[in-house]
Amino acid sequence: MKFVDEFRDPGAVRALLDRIRATVTKPWTIMEVCGGQTHTILRYGLDQLLPPEITLVHGPGCPVCVTPIEMIDLALELARRPGITLCSFGDMLRVPGSSSDLFDARAAGADVRIVYSPLDALELARRETSQQVVFFAVGFETTAPTTAMALRHASRLNLPNFSIIAAHVRVPPALEAILSSDENCVQGFLAAGHVCTVMGIEEYRPIVEKFSVPIVVTGFEPLDLLHGVAMCVAQLESGRAELETQYVRSVRAEGNLPAQALMAEVFTPVARRWRGLGVMPNSALAVSERFAAYDAVRRFGLIAEPAPEPSECHAGEVLRGLLKPPQCPSFGNPCTPEHPLGAPMVSSEGACAAYFRAGRLAPAAEAK
Ligand code: SF4
Repeated sequence: MKFVDEFRDPGAVRALLDRIRATVTKPWTIMEVCGGQTHTILRYGLDQLLPPEITLVHGPGCPVCVTPIEMIDLALELARRPGITLCSFGDMLRVPGSSSDLFDARAAGADVRIVYSPLDALELARRETSQQVVFFAVGFETTAPTTAMALRHASRLNLPNFSIIAAHVRVPPALEAILSSDENCVQGFLAAGHVCTVMGIEEYRPIVEKFSVPIVVTGFEPLDLLHGVAMCVAQLESGRAELETQYVRSVRAEGNLPAQALMAEVFTPVARRWRGLGVMPNSALAVSERFAAYDAVRRFGLIAEPAPEPSECHAGEVLRGLLKPPQCPSFGNPCTPEHPLGAPMVSSEGACAAYFRAGRLAPAAEAK
């Protein structure tokens, strides 16, 4: 297959659905980890095409969604200081902090800008030398290498006015936390193919072995997802728990070794709180000692103060696969993409936004 349309071919979809129906004999709950996968599932109604025995629940793989309020408050506090230009991806500007968001800060006079890459922020620092340019770096292992590259460039250029708030996170500790929870209902995972394109697959093998859970590294198109489900169901039905790769056109077992080396140079794994999942060891990437000069937290003496989640937002349960967005009492009213109460309704990878955009508004329709 060469073109994206071929990964949406109706005949091939029907064939995969027939294969799944012929295999499944009992109920199974499978979590797709990545928010991009969730959006494909909702956009194409894949969950509604699957046999009733299979329930898809949506995982924590939306980096904007899992960034805790305290990190957003930290960015807000810095953005309001004179001489600071705070840059981030567009989604981050609309995520509510404790009392406001970065768009509010911009409306009140803060210099907050949308960028499409950390390298754009670096270029801004080279042009606007009177400003301290800070990139609010959010994302999984997929985007961390680009941030690492920006820091390495800044170091080589000896740029004195560029730094980052490092809010990058790692997927494997989140899967461990979900599986370790007493309330866990997940019996198999579709892991995020792009994360494994960077990191390889071996980080997941200890999880498969420790929890006896199938993990299928899966892509993002409709056929990828149905193929991943078919592989996962085949394992579950035969009592196997193995690490398999569906997304073979992109993932190599060892991953992208230069990208991993760059990340290891620039970042250090640390414990951090995730929205909805609490504090998890080694779940985040902080700036390493070698690049400490480019760590905004150290440069500006920032301190993250724990902040409670709003009680009306059930993002934590959504991110752990315990609640589907339409089952949240605030879904659609008052929480909408225009007036979000929580990050999953803001982000282009958020599960609540995926359901809202797909017009899935009625909780009864989500009973499956
Ligand atoms: S619908 Fe809104 S309030 Fe409910 S969990 Fe999603 S983001 Fe939070």
